[in-house]
Amino acid sequence: MSQVFDVAVIGAGPGGYVAAIRAAQLGLSAVCIDEWKNEKGRPSLGGTCLNVGCIPSKALLESSENYERAAQKFADHGIRMQGLSVDIATMQARKAKIVDTLTSGIAMLFKKNKVTSLHGRGLLVSAGATYGIQVTEGDQSEVIEARHVIIATGSLPRQLPMAEVDNELILDNEGALALAEVPRKLGVIGAGVIGLEMGSVWRRLGADVTVLEALPSFLSAVDEQVAKEAFRIFSKELGLVIHTGVKIDTVTKGKGKVSVKYEDQAGMHKAEFDKLIVSVGRVPNSASVGADALGLKIDARGFIEVDDHCRTNLPNVYAIGDVVRGPMLAHKSSEEGVAVAELIAGQESHVNLETVPWVIYTSPEIAWVGRNEQELKEAGVAYRSGMFPFTANGRARSLGETNGFIKILADTGTDRILGVHIIGPFASELIAEATVAMEFGASAEDIARIVHAHPSLSEVMHEAALGVDNRTLHL
Ligand SMILES: Cc1cc2nc3c(=O)[nH]c(=O)nc-3n(C[C@H](O)[C@H](O)[C@H](O)COP(=O)(O)OP(=O)(O)OC[C@H]3O[C@@H](n4cnc5c(N)ncnc54)[C@H](O)[C@@H]3O)c2cc1C
Repeated sequence: MSQVFDVAVIGAGPGGYVAAIRAAQLGLSAVCIDEWKNEKGRPSLGGTCLNVGCIPSKALLESSENYERAAQKFADHGIRMQGLSVDIATMQARKAKIVDTLTSGIAMLFKKNKVTSLHGRGLLVSAGATYGIQVTEGDQSEVIEARHVIIATGSLPRQLPMAEVDNELILDNEGALALAEVPRKLGVIGAGVIGLEMGSVWRRLGADVTVLEALPSFLSAVDEQVAKEAFRIFSKELGLVIHTGVKIDTVTKGKGKVSVKYEDQAGMHKAEFDKLIVSVGRVPNSASVGADALGLKIDARGFIEVDDHCRTNLPNVYAIGDVVRGPMLAHKSSEEGVAVAELIAGQESHVNLETVPWVIYTSPEIAWVGRNEQELKEAGVAYRSGMFPFTANGRARSLGETNGFIKILADTGTDRILGVHIIGPFASELIAEATVAMEFGASAEDIARIVHAHPSLSEVMHEAALGVDNRTLHL
């Protein structure tokens, strides 16, 4: 009889591959099935995050930011640039090398941890004492058996019916990350994280970028004060043209151009672009395992239904990451993967969704953890706020990155930190202190009493904490 695995993981994104490694570390026999192929048609582990998401986008953001620094900021340092130019092919090759290194690193981690890696589509075909999973690659198919199943099939770009993605003129994240040249005029439908990050990359490299957002407010999930500051910086300094409250009417492809008719409060407009990025969110990829035939419960929005411990309604079947409720973020997926592997191994484990940090890798970066002011007001929670600007911080001045601030929101009665909101340099790194503090149930005074290195950006966090008690030192 063929081997019955303790755990079969379907999907090798940051949720699935981490779950498989953790299960193997705990002595369970683990198989991870993944169908991703890269542009060369080769299997490539790591899912959306490593192949067409977090990692390639950060590679291009870094390259384009370096270009912008050289073009706009080096002169302040007395560094003169002449004949500055950008070579997109080299930039893209650097990105591809980073992706290759990291995706093949997962294959090595699988080997090291003795995770069996199968390439192909995994379909749940039978349930009983064990689950049968059919793995199909081309015309080859085999059925493997497992006692526990973890579904980690991730998400897919949401489609706009009137703007079908062809990755030539109308692009999703995959096409937006693979452009071979800078479009002169770039349209972006959707001012979410992906739209703003991609818009920033191509704007810095010289494109005229227009962002069309359906919602009336900009970055509505973000603290309002942060969103306001971001709007100011992105429009005035970066040069993004951002229209909110927009209703897309038609999208028409022409010869090397795409034109968009849209309506806003001022009436109907028409804009023509060389490329159009559609970034209107992502939808859970819950249908790909075919588990509805086994009675797997999927909610109205397409998410696999799970409890607080990622258990589905099918015994011993778990689901994690983008395919279930909660933030669609790589680190959330990974932590759920760890927690589920530990639960299967008989340990206690849990992910606290209240303290998942969020980051938008624009310049300046935006990061937050916990609740924002509008959420606290709506919930009727009494809070105090402490805020400190980067402009009054020595390290930020020497970096030449003085935009933005850190804001700490703390409960009026207990001083417990309820949320921390950052717009500014290295927000993605600074938010870690706030996340640790919130996980430990810290008060604003706790942070205020901790010694922070000087000169460092973390002093802005320190001063914001002092600010909760109205006693900032440097403002
Ligand atoms: C442009 C972009 C930038 C992003 N930047 C960030 C960021 O900076 N930080 C962050 O935290 N998040 C970011 N994200 C989101 C992040 O990529 C996702 O939250 C994360 O990848 C979700 O992980 P996952 O493991 O749940 O699913 P995925 O990464 O989507 O992986 C799912 C895997 O399952 C495979 N699969 C699906 N169905 C089957 C099947 N039936 N059989 C076999 N295999 C299957 C897929 O091929 C894929 O490999 C970004 C996303 C995009 C698009």
